[in-house]
Amino acid sequence: MNIRETVEAAERHCTAAFARIDAVALKNTERVLDIFHKHQVASRHFSQTTGYGYGDIGRDTLETIYADVFQTEAAVVRPQIASGTHALSLCLFGLLLPGDELLSVTGKPYDTLDGVIGISKNNMGSLREMGVTYGQTEMAETGLDLEAIAKTVKPNTRVVYAQRSRGYAMRFPLMPKDFAPLKEIVKSKNQDALIVVDNCYGEFVQAEEPTHFGADVCAGSLIKNPGGGLAPTGGYIAGTQQAIDRIACRLTAPSVGAEVGSYAASYQPYYQGLFMAPHAVAQALKTAVLAAAVFESLGMKTTPGVNAERGDIIQALELGTPERVIAFCQGIQAASPVDSMAAPEPWDMPGYREQVVMAAGTFVSGASIELSADAPLREPYTVYLQGGLSYSHGKIALIQTLESMEKRGLL
Ligand SMILES: *Cc1c(COP(=O)(O)O)cnc(C)c1O
Repeated sequence: MNIRETVEAAERHCTAAFARIDAVALKNTERVLDIFHKHQVASRHFSQTTGYGYGDIGRDTLETIYADVFQTEAAVVRPQIASGTHALSLCLFGLLLPGDELLSVTGKPYDTLDGVIGISKNNMGSLREMGVTYGQTEMAETGLDLEAIAKTVKPNTRVVYAQRSRGYAMRFPLMPKDFAPLKEIVKSKNQDALIVVDNCYGEFVQAEEPTHFGADVCAGSLIKNPGGGLAPTGGYIAGTQQAIDRIACRLTAPSVGAEVGSYAASYQPYYQGLFMAPHAVAQALKTAVLAAAVFESLGMKTTPGVNAERGDIIQALELGTPERVIAFCQGIQAASPVDSMAAPEPWDMPGYREQVVMAAGTFVSGASIELSADAPLREPYTVYLQGGLSYSHGKIALIQTLESMEKRGLL
């Protein structure tokens, strides 16, 4: 098999999908640019601060810009938020009190939330240990199971939690517009319930965000989509003023809130990253679409398909055997611009239940808006591919990975 020809042939099936991706990137870039203009972003927003960081104009303006991007009243955007899990944990601990219930409406949340919620029964200060109960409804075949949700929302349901992306499941991601009917159902049962969205991997995939359709809070990681590959670390949370005030008090201290927090580096990469994010997401999406086209042509199951509407940047490829999964990840690693000499092996990653194999040869450590692949070693041996700061690199990496898989007799 001539791999390069196989990939080129698959690429010809991607034209329509690529055009849709470009159209969304154009809209999102225009939206972000308009917001930069509105706030008159200038070099003074890139200066460093130390100590308490009172009145840090770079931080405060960046947070206002995020609030505008998500069409919310407020946002916190901080390098001190260590990860996506930390951002989500802040939301839950900020909004839930003893006696409240957390209801996940997209099945079991991402594995790293197990310890936060107390699903894994740890005693490290989980919500469960604090007296917050947990309930869950499963996704229906085609999306949210609104009937089940209507039956499950209780008077003490305080947070209705939805994960937009598929995570490590073969289910469909939620679309921003799915939050309108969810909001209607939830508020009809309980006026005080807040809709909180794990927006990881979803930002800028569509021209709208869940908060444009009534979600109260959404949160994510800055080393994924909204950091545009440039933000060195951090997380964001955007939402109603009331929710963000409570969450900011959890981030720092009650009564202190978002007023403090200096950054002795510069917020410049956060601004530039947000500006680049719609483009970076489009590059990642094109890489994902190409991967789907190639593996479909090789007879493997892929989710989503080439022309499916996308809600996140993740491409699931059902490879069927652990050998292929490991070889695929090693191929992606070998094609990376950084750490290409490393050969990833499965390991027991903290927070995950099965062994996981991960490929990430990235400039920003662990950034999965850069081309990366990971897979929990469980049936049906699905690998999740995401990211790619440039489509050219994504295409080259796929060619090189397939070539090395073929050499090992795995195709
Ligand atoms: C990445 C991710 C998280 C957690 O983010 P970390 O930065 O790895 O802690 C949560 N949910 C989803 C869907 C994710 O993709």
